[in-house]
Amino acid sequence: MSLDRPSVSGLAIQTQHLSAVLDDALILRDLSVQIPRASWTSIVGPNGAGKSTLLKALAGLMASDGTIQLLGQAVDEISRREKARCLSWLGQSQSAAEDMRVWDVVMLGRLPHQAWLAAPSAEDYAAVEQALRDTQAWQWRERSLAQLSGGERQRVLLARALAVQAEVLLMDEPLANLDPPHQADWMALVRQLVAQGKTVISVLHEISFALQADYLMIMQHGRLVHQGRCKDIESHQALCEVFEHRIAIHPVAGQWVALPN
Ligand code: ADP
Ligand code: MG
Repeated sequence: MSLDRPSVSGLAIQTQHLSAVLDDALILRDLSVQIPRASWTSIVGPNGAGKSTLLKALAGLMASDGTIQLLGQAVDEISRREKARCLSWLGQSQSAAEDMRVWDVVMLGRLPHQAWLAAPSAEDYAAVEQALRDTQAWQWRERSLAQLSGGERQRVLLARALAVQAEVLLMDEPLANLDPPHQADWMALVRQLVAQGKTVISVLHEISFALQADYLMIMQHGRLVHQGRCKDIESHQALCEVFEHRIAIHPVAGQWVALPN
């Protein structure tokens, strides 16, 4: 592993020997990952590699073996509510009630901050408005989810994840259905979050976008096959290998870009 071995307090998430089983099949195999704080990590790998399962395990949405530390603390020692405040999750084809108003969907992100049955606070309103504006979804706030296109809906779900104002954000294929300008906006948003000290972990199939991150984690068959900096040649080699040399990575206009071979 070619990380610069950040101190434990410099890690947003650390796992040791993480494994997970679904329907008697071992889906995550002995994953020991280190995700530095205040940075952007991309997770890539072929379909079925276990990327979504890893994010769900990290978010505590499924049972797993091994240990997970979140912001330097064992997750088992953090209350559900506290965890929901410091970790936000944007799922792949995440379900949401179609007849719900966009505003209310995003307000769901504030639940971990609200007292039981209490009315939303001024802070909650401000966080929802900010999230809707940051994702350019403000104009749809009175519409229901059913009245939105796939990409518009994706932006609303992103707004919900942002409204949590969590320290760590897990996003599973956040660019799905987004047009190129909104993909670029998403990346600008991630950079802004990282500049504010937040940690973003995203599963991406858009390899050229994934390569803009700080760190790359490559998964295959439920295992972590590589973890390193996106700009390192070793990361590029591992990437080409896992995709069976069907892609090649080239420098274009000061960035690394993956093109079909
Ligand atoms: P990725 O996100 O990398 O495409 P997933 O984490 O969704 O992959 O899935 C990893 C593997 O787990 C796949 O082989 C998938 O078929 C399997 N899998 C996913 N969900 C279930 C389930 N509920 N029961 C059994 N196997 C599952
Ligand atoms: Mg997936």
